[in-house]
Amino acid sequence: MDALDKLQFLGQATQYEPAEETTVAGTVLAPKAARDLSGCIFEAATPHGRVPLLKTLLTSACERDCFYCPFRAGRDFRRATLKPDELAQTFDAMHRAGLVKGLFLSSGIAGGGLRTQDRLLAVAELLRGKYGFRGYLHLKIMPGAERAQVERAMQLADRVSVNLEAPNGERLARLAPHKVFMEELMRPLRWVEEISRRHTSRPA
Ligand code: SF4
Repeated sequence: MDALDKLQFLGQATQYEPAEETTVAGTVLAPKAARDLSGCIFEAATPHGRVPLLKTLLTSACERDCFYCPFRAGRDFRRATLKPDELAQTFDAMHRAGLVKGLFLSSGIAGGGLRTQDRLLAVAELLRGKYGFRGYLHLKIMPGAERAQVERAMQLADRVSVNLEAPNGERLARLAPHKVFMEELMRPLRWVEEISRRHTSRPA
């Protein structure tokens, strides 16, 4: 599979991850691409206006076993993984071709939340640095990410988000037995709030 094949494949998988779509689920933009990437390009409402957004996972492989999730470990499911430079280069080519103006990036967890977050950050670093991309970027914060990673994600992205799948630890344990509510989900969310408060309260 080349990078575009993987994107086609991951795009279909990403339909389960809500982003900033303005269209009804299942109705997507149909860009003029050599290959049909309509399953992963959505019209999205962003601070940059309505833009075509590439919505993808870095990998649909996952070592966790959240019961509600199609990517959970052990499920008989064809998986695909993009390397950070593969995704950054492909996104840059699509951006230059006018197919997309923004990126929503999430991932299954492979090798722990820290390593997975590092790979998401690597994509963002490449886009903002090597490819000079200044458009809209939404990064997911992985369960168990460290504070420095959250801070870097907030420097690189226009938006970050944490998937909070349950209102408390007890409920979460019933849905996602290997996610830890306070340490893995609430703590990064609090860091996001603290960091954003610190930045907005700075004198001009
Ligand atoms: S950690 Fe995320 S991708 Fe993995 S099984 Fe749970 S919800 Fe799915």
